[in-house]
Amino acid sequence: MPSHSSIQQFHWPKGKKAAISLTFDDARPSQIDNGLPILDAHNLKATFYVSVGPVEQRLTEWRNAVANGHEIGNHTLSHPCSGNFAFARNNPLEDYTLDRMENELRNANHAIEQLLGVKPTTFAYPCGHKFVGRGEAVKSYVPLVARHFRVGRNAFNEIHNDPAFTDLAQVTALDADGASFEYLKMLIDRAVADGGWLILLGHEVGAGGGQTVLAEALEAVCMYAQNPANGLWMDTVATIGDYIIQTRT
Ligand SMILES: [Zn+2]
Repeated sequence: MPSHSSIQQFHWPKGKKAAISLTFDDARPSQIDNGLPILDAHNLKATFYVSVGPVEQRLTEWRNAVANGHEIGNHTLSHPCSGNFAFARNNPLEDYTLDRMENELRNANHAIEQLLGVKPTTFAYPCGHKFVGRGEAVKSYVPLVARHFRVGRNAFNEIHNDPAFTDLAQVTALDADGASFEYLKMLIDRAVADGGWLILLGHEVGAGGGQTVLAEALEAVCMYAQNPANGLWMDTVATIGDYIIQTRT
């Protein structure tokens, strides 16, 4: 085979055709009650972008999740988003500065280390919002995330990541809440066609309702990911991100 092309070919390990990461935000109790039992039954590892308060409420179970190989990521301390969300109105990104955000990222890492004994290496932007301030004074906090973390996870995007191209400080993630297995399989198959990294994002895990990954869809995705014929590598954001970083050095 002639190899005069200057284009770097990207290859997933062991001949895999695509990578998938399952991510769950805010440390909702249903992740402990309904999500982790499914993941652990399949021996698959996911990434949890936790809020600190809910971790304190279920500390033993979250420590068990760490012991079972799941990743714990940083999701800030106070979950600031645009004040257009009523829940964020008294703590809006529009009132933040970069210094305040940097302190919050550090303090969240410190709190997680104290509680769970692991230091997060990846981050998820609350609400997928990546700015502080207003108008002409708006600043992106992506550079802060790039400085403090190996991967920053975006939210509610439309396309999986091209592993040879994607900016690891703002990798894309597609919404899995409320999705059927048929829809998720379509996203997976599209990633396979492109050799991509599909990151799915969810909140609750259960039988239905708002912001909920359907337990039966999660079960079916796990089965699909584990079938060697499908050529999928399912692992945490940190593990797949580190693989991509290593291919770039
Ligand atoms: Zn969140």
